[in-house]
Amino acid sequence: MIPEGIGGWLRRRAATSPDHPAIVFQREAIPYRALADRVDRLAAALQGLGVGPGDRVAYLGANHPSFVETLFAAARLGAVLVPLNTRLAPAELAYMLDDADPVVLVNGAGLESTAVAAVAGRELVRVVVGTPESAADPAALDWDRVLAGGDPAALVPATTTLDDPALIIYTSGTTGRPKGAVLTHGAITWNAINVLADYDLTSTDRALMISPLFHVASLGMGCLPVLLKGATVLLEERFVPGDALRSIEALRATAISGVPTTYQLMTEDPAWPTTDISSLRLLTCGGSAVPDRVREAYEARGLAFSGGYGMTETSPGVTMLPAPQSLAHGGSAGLAHFFTRYRIRAVDGALAPAGVPGEIEAAGPNVFAGYWRNPAATAAAFTDDGWLRTGDVGVADQDGFLTIADRVKDMIISGGENVYSAEVEQAIMTIEGVTGVAVLGMPHERWGEVPHAVVTLAPGRTLDPEELVARLSVLLARYKVPRTLEVVDDLPRTASGKVRKEELRRRAAARA
Ligand code: ATP
Ligand code: MG
Repeated sequence: MIPEGIGGWLRRRAATSPDHPAIVFQREAIPYRALADRVDRLAAALQGLGVGPGDRVAYLGANHPSFVETLFAAARLGAVLVPLNTRLAPAELAYMLDDADPVVLVNGAGLESTAVAAVAGRELVRVVVGTPESAADPAALDWDRVLAGGDPAALVPATTTLDDPALIIYTSGTTGRPKGAVLTHGAITWNAINVLADYDLTSTDRALMISPLFHVASLGMGCLPVLLKGATVLLEERFVPGDALRSIEALRATAISGVPTTYQLMTEDPAWPTTDISSLRLLTCGGSAVPDRVREAYEARGLAFSGGYGMTETSPGVTMLPAPQSLAHGGSAGLAHFFTRYRIRAVDGALAPAGVPGEIEAAGPNVFAGYWRNPAATAAAFTDDGWLRTGDVGVADQDGFLTIADRVKDMIISGGENVYSAEVEQAIMTIEGVTGVAVLGMPHERWGEVPHAVVTLAPGRTLDPEELVARLSVLLARYKVPRTLEVVDDLPRTASGKVRKEELRRRAAARA
């Protein structure tokens, strides 16, 4: 049998475990058979709206079962889901709509005005989930009605292979304009297989999704592997620390995935000490290293994190640090996922041995097909022998544990020495009153570049360059310590909260 795309996953699970809950949303369970039936109905309805193989279907909304249904319905038709970030402004969304050119936009409740502004003048069908805002576009279709009108008997499913695109996910736009990463059915399937091979996830697990599904981390590391396994997705509409804690206790969640900040916010919630979270056994965390005090707060309750490193272009897992190893390898992003490989390319262009830092290159069946309608960026993303250039600097140890140092673009070369901006930023974050920081390289006649710090401070706090130098001198080598400092009200950030250093560099260049 030729392996087919993800379009068949739910039908398969409907046959093996029809009554097992696939999704629990707002305390209501949707069993696998019911979900598969809804997906077929929706696929038939979308087909009626003109969606066919290769067409794009965009989704703009908070977490809701309709996200999962739209993804699988599009997959049944050989169409491609384009998840959109709900925190983007209409102009940013309009750029993505121009680029991805979808036939249909599914629009979650509460985001209608944003969608109407973004869609303005474009020819596409808008389907609204939930109660429409009265003032919004009257031409929009109602989700329930669209679904009711779909006749599954009339559905003509497409034949998809693992090489066909399933998703276009826009990167965070930290280093420039977001690029649409084309993830094939094979790439997301293999990423899910990596997760199941490396984490102890079973069909009886109940995994709480607190992060937005439009992020590849939540979708790729959480939702898809859970559904492939036939386990249960406990879907939270949005992340509210107290609600998440209540859901863990009430729904007896066994697994949860998030980023360091979400875990930290839960420990700071008044409900933290009194909530029973003893059902949890698998906590996955990506994006950056877990701060010690957060790790300790969970360890005090017998829970350890499984960390990891990845990016949109790898669907997204590259490495993972299993919880039992996290004590011995704190600060590391772990080992390559089961079916994925990484290697390090040193500055001189040769492959680096253990202990020598360089750009991380990744290969494996979960690597993306390329950037949507951007052959130049795609060509630049791969080496001659087909490995993905991640744009991140890392160093591997003898046993294959990878430590992420910085982005290549953010590294500063000062007097011939490499300065990792991420390391300097971590040191600055230990100074009391500093709430945010970005370290950039500034051109310098003698040293080539020198580090410059931009910080935000808590209300009433002050910081001057002398104090900064004094505080950092005990933590960092002299050449790494910024001699210049700028205090700002806000740092420019992407919709996913990462500092946009390009923007800071542009501002600095304009001033120079
Ligand atoms: P763009 O590609 O548009 O500039 P982006 O790279 O921030 O944006 P994402 O794909 O969301 O978009 O993020 C992936 C990046 O996040 C990685 O390349 C890496 O720089 C960073 N990252 C991911 N995991 C970790 C980790 N465990 N530690 C440090 N950095 C990480
Ligand atoms: Mg990137």
